[in-house]
Amino acid sequence: MSRRERAPGRHALYSAAEKHPLSCTVECSSCREETRVSYIELALLMVPVSLHLPWLRYHHSWFRCPACGRRTWLRVHLDR
Ligand SMILES: [Zn+2]
Repeated sequence: MSRRERAPGRHALYSAAEKHPLSCTVECSSCREETRVSYIELALLMVPVSLHLPWLRYHHSWFRCPACGRRTWLRVHLDR
């Protein structure tokens, strides 16, 4: 029986298909991945710099993608 339920060392990446409480998904314009992150992980990805232009573009937030690690434009889906 496996008891390995701890999150991996760096970013705990969940399947985008699963719904978790206090989490959302981010859709990356570079790698096209949609990655599930917790709100805490999302906040960590946005430091030290992030940019948000919700009216101008589909991928409206600029911060580090949890999937490919690049600083690029992403869309946050808080409803997913
Ligand atoms: Zn990416």
